[in-house]
Amino acid sequence: MTESLFEKTLSSIDAAAEKLGLDKNTHAVLRYPERELTVSIPVIMDDGHLEVFTGYRVQHSSVRGPCKGGIRYHPDVTLDEVKALAALMTWKCAVVNLPYGGAKGGVICDPFKMSKDELRRLTRRYTVGILPIIGGRRDIPAPDVNTNQETMGWIMDTVSMFEGRTVLEIVTGKPLDLGGSLGRREATGKGVTIATLHLLKKLDRNLSDIKVAVQGYGNVGSVAANLLAQAGCNVVAISDMTGGLYNPKGLDLKNINEYVKTSKNHLIKGYKQGGIESITNEELLLSDVDVLIPAALEGQITKKNASKIKAKYILEGANAPTTPEAERILVDKGIIVVPDILANSGGVIISYLEWVQSIQAMFWDLDQVNSYLDRIMTKSFDEIWYSAQNQKVDLRMASHMIGTQRLANAVQERGIFP
Ligand code: NAD
Repeated sequence: MTESLFEKTLSSIDAAAEKLGLDKNTHAVLRYPERELTVSIPVIMDDGHLEVFTGYRVQHSSVRGPCKGGIRYHPDVTLDEVKALAALMTWKCAVVNLPYGGAKGGVICDPFKMSKDELRRLTRRYTVGILPIIGGRRDIPAPDVNTNQETMGWIMDTVSMFEGRTVLEIVTGKPLDLGGSLGRREATGKGVTIATLHLLKKLDRNLSDIKVAVQGYGNVGSVAANLLAQAGCNVVAISDMTGGLYNPKGLDLKNINEYVKTSKNHLIKGYKQGGIESITNEELLLSDVDVLIPAALEGQITKKNASKIKAKYILEGANAPTTPEAERILVDKGIIVVPDILANSGGVIISYLEWVQSIQAMFWDLDQVNSYLDRIMTKSFDEIWYSAQNQKVDLRMASHMIGTQRLANAVQERGIFP
């Protein structure tokens, strides 16, 4: 039987716990989600028929603070995936030392086949379904795949209607007019860029020699691709769910951005320009580049394709894009993998800053937000980098060890209730 995504996530936690010599009681606490909620979401569709969707909210840990994690709308959402992503959030927040635990939510639906009204009704009913367990001091949702600022606005409004006041701190990733933070939309892609540039600087690489491929030209991938191109790297390949574009001399991202502004569902399908070759997502992963940024979905780099990957550095924009078997192959090949819990933590870092602003009813300027992001990301990167060198482990193991140690300290300092 194949290992589930949650089991795969646990195997990384187990390996870090073993390396740290963690006591078995503390280790056991960290292996179980605190709470899993499944909700049925009846929605009257535009044509009058009723459809019942299934949604989840999993709170993996609140030992270091309120739970935090995005909400995903996708036909392939499963409880197992939501549990795995919730656990990853726990470690991500611990690795970058935010006072948060981890959670995740998901609804099994195909948002591309739904109207905006249907999505709004789905979101409001899902919000009411998970209302008993979320809260500005308990569990704070955010956007993830196929959810966005608008979705967060609907969630904020729904909770506010129930509480009889405007509850800014209930979600992050809100529109600016509703208490969102400057820089939040770009945060994860910007964080991936900070991590990439910090790595290249450590390795003394000249940016103009660096070829980059980005899988997933969505919120995370498109921001990272554009910022890396602005920094002087050569972005030669990008893709989305419809396939990819490749130009060994570099892609004209400005033109591509103009195209996707008005293309169907903002997808790159149909984009044409001289020198560009259409490639599949699989070909993108195997392209001849220095930096590969998987920024689409999990499980993209597997034992089937890992040995053929030519990139020297992989920065995980997506959550869990590399399977554990694939990672062993990559590490043996000398490829440096900057793991998701560090590389894509920019989103949760600025979410945290947004939450702080919402609680204080105070708004910061972009420089203030970005300087926090830069400081937290580079400090966390350095801690992991030097810990990996000292412990003679790869960066994922070093991240998991740092996160696990912080979580274990919190479990032990709080003690087991009652
Ligand atoms: P998004 O929906 O904006 O973009 C996802 C991109 O992946 C789109 O271009 C889509 O077309 C593409 N895609 C979907 N299915 C694909 C497939 N089968 N093959 C190739 N491409 C495919 O989502 P996003 O917010 O950019 O999130 C991307 C990843 O980053 C997810 O794994 C998410 O969990 C992770 N992440 C996002 C944030 C955030 O703040 N948005 C934070 C941390 C991690």
